Order: sequence, then structure tokens, then C-alpha cells
Amino acid sequence: MFQIEKSKDLFVKAQKLIPGGVNSPVRAFKSVGGTPIFIKRGEGPYIFDFDDNKYIDYVLSWGPLVLGHAHPLVINELKKSLSNGTSYGAPTLLETELAELIISVVPSIEMIRFVNSGTEACMSAIRLARAYTNREKIIKFGGNYHGHADMLLVEAGSGVATFGLPDSPGVPESFTQHTLIAPYNNIDVVEQLFESYPDTIAAVIFEPIAANMGFIVPEDGYLKKLIDLCHKHGAISIIDEVMTGFRAAPGGVQQKLNLKPDITCLGKVIGGGLPVGAYAGNIDIMENVAPVGKMYQAGTLSGNPLAMCAGLSTITNLLEGDTFDIMTRKATDLITGIKRIAQDYSVPMQIDSTGSMFGFYFLNEKDAIINDFVSAKKLANTEFYGKFFHKLLESGVYIAPSQFEIGFMSSVHTDENISTTITIIETAIKSIIT
Ligand SMILES: *Cc1c(COP(=O)(O)O)cnc(C)c1O
Repeated sequence: MFQIEKSKDLFVKAQKLIPGGVNSPVRAFKSVGGTPIFIKRGEGPYIFDFDDNKYIDYVLSWGPLVLGHAHPLVINELKKSLSNGTSYGAPTLLETELAELIISVVPSIEMIRFVNSGTEACMSAIRLARAYTNREKIIKFGGNYHGHADMLLVEAGSGVATFGLPDSPGVPESFTQHTLIAPYNNIDVVEQLFESYPDTIAAVIFEPIAANMGFIVPEDGYLKKLIDLCHKHGAISIIDEVMTGFRAAPGGVQQKLNLKPDITCLGKVIGGGLPVGAYAGNIDIMENVAPVGKMYQAGTLSGNPLAMCAGLSTITNLLEGDTFDIMTRKATDLITGIKRIAQDYSVPMQIDSTGSMFGFYFLNEKDAIINDFVSAKKLANTEFYGKFFHKLLESGVYIAPSQFEIGFMSSVHTDENISTTITIIETAIKSIIT
């Protein structure tokens, strides 16, 4: 009998001390209901909660853990690094090594600056684009999430989408007045914005796969057109590969689609489960950052040796042999199984994957297609997802506690994990529709 009594007690206590009991909103299970499970430990593809329930984990800390939990090779490197201390606030070899590795894999990057989160990466990337172009306005897309910097909390995805908050209170209108919003997958609106605001748009920031409002792939040619439009109008293209970097392809979506963006934001995988972000680009742009250039940006713990070490070890192992391809194949196997179930039981779903990222919507209407934020909000069946989520949880499969987040595969999920998951999904769907 599935029970989470200990998690319930821990949640009661946490709620008294931490807003909502969590340090990031989606963790609170608000959109699926119920009590969040408190995690005691992770091992390989599994997490274990305080009631000793074991789950196959497809959240993987929201993406970073491409090698699964507590990978022995990563942990071993971390232990060695730990014995040398935790932080110096001075340069280390690890920073250069991780920079060199990332630069060798992500095509558009010649120089990189490490920060502590994806939020910081995107915030700094925009400051850099504004400094470089001497312009103020930016374009972002409805439902794209770039962290929680004030100017980017407009029609943001992720937790903001989950709760349907319009804009967060506490963000003055004057802080977002330079943020222009366009619908995802619609190039005409971007073109119109460039024409309406000539010589004033510093940058377009975009998720190359929209993965914070569910999983939406860009239409053919859309991203290339976006980057071309930026260049035509003297603006900087900022590709936010915080989630897609080392996931969609080793070198991100830009490598997969042969794109030439100006600035790349990274995070998640490059920290291997420790807090990291980075923004990067060619030397001409990056040398505007202090202390070479005038654009100021700093961080007490930036380039932290433990975080660099975890990132280095994680990426190095990910790039060994055919690890990445096997992981991709496993994600394909999983979604192929889900597609078959959706068909067999006539449950309208939209299901997709790229590399080791995958996502699915339960749809309110048959044959509906979700391709932007408006259609996601209108057509996603969040009620069905909530029921589905809990059926899976009770059966030992942990997926994101929101219809508007996606799933992740690791290199250590086994074929047996995947077939078990598919069986559990089939049982769950059968029981919900009958
Ligand atoms: C997760 C994410 C961020 C924010 O990163 P944090 O480390 O949570 O601040 C930014 N952009 C994208 C695309 C993300 O998925």
C-alpha cells in the first residue's frame, strides 16, 4: 500500500519555515495536488523518499543529471575536489578546463563566463547584448522561460505558467517596459516588432525548443529565420540552451540545426547537479565583459570548484563512446511506447522528444496541435495530467508535477526501467478512462 506519511509530516513542518515548504514553486505539487515527496537519496535512475518508496525518476533535478543520480565517476571526482576545499574566490584550473570542453562542443562559443544559475546567465546575456548594441528593448516569447529576472517575468513559462500568474507582483512596470512579447513559432510578429521599433531592439532571446510550457519544437526554419532577422536589424540573437545544452544534442539545438546564434546561455547539465550557469559567445562580443570590457558582472561563488568539477566529469562521461546516442534511443523507446498507448486507448495526446528530452500533453480536443503558449494553455488537459501524475507516483514512477514541464532520460535508465514505465503508464491511462 503506497503511503507517504513521513513526507506529509515533513511538508507540514517545512511549510512553517519556508514559503510553501519549498525553495522553488513547482516542487510544491500545487498544479497536480497532494503532498510533495521528500527525497532522502538518489541512485542511478532512482530516487527514494523518506517513507522508503522507490521511484524511477524522469525529472532528474529538472534536467542536470544526464548520468543519473550519484554517478560513481562524478562522485569520485567530487570527493577528490572536496578534499582540496570548497571555494577560493580566485582562479582555478577547473574553470579553464570546463570552458575548453564546452567551447570544443558548442559550435558558436569562443569564450564563456560562468555564473551560478540559468537565471543569472540569461540576465547577464541581456545586459551584454544591451551594452554591445547600445539599445534597450528585447523580444521574448510567450511561454518561454529564462529564469526569474524582473525584465523576463513577462508571459514566462515554467512555474509561472503552472500557476497562471500574469506577471509577478513586485516587478515594476517600468522594469518590463522594454520587454516586447511575441508568440512562439510565429516569425511575422517578430518581423513586425523589428519594423515598429527600428534601431531600438538589442536582442531576441528564445528557447530553441520550448520546454517550459510543455514540449514544443520549433517549426522548420523558424530559428534560422529568427537569427537572420536579428542580424538584418543589428540585434543580438540569444539562444537559451540552459535546458537543451548537452540534452537536445551534445552541442545543443544550435549544433543539431547548424545555427549561428550570437550569445548562448547554458546551465543545468554543465553543472552536473551543482549550481551553475554560463553565458558565452564569440570573442568580439564576450570581450565587452569586465574586466576586459565595461559591462559589469561578478559572483562570489562563480566558477566554484565543486560545480566546475561536477560539470567537467558529467560532460566528459556523457561524451564517451555512444553514451549520448544510447540515451537518445531510450527516450525514443519511451515515447514510442506512450504513443502506442495513446492510440490503443484513443486518448488525445501530443508526444515528442529530441535527444534525451521528451514531453507529452494530454489534449482537451482530438487532433489539436499545441505550438505556442496560447494553444498550450487552451488545449492541455491539466486535470487528466494531475490524475495521471498521481497514478504514476503511486506505482513508482516520478514525472514532473506539472503538465507544463517536460521529462528527461539519463544514460543509466535501463531498458527494463523503460518497459516497466510503459506498463505502468498503460495501467494508469486505462484506469483513468474507465
Ligand atoms: C531552467 C531554465 C532557466 C533558469 O535556470 P535556473 O538555474 O533555474 O535559474 C533558464 N532558461 C531555461 C530555458 C531553463 O530551462
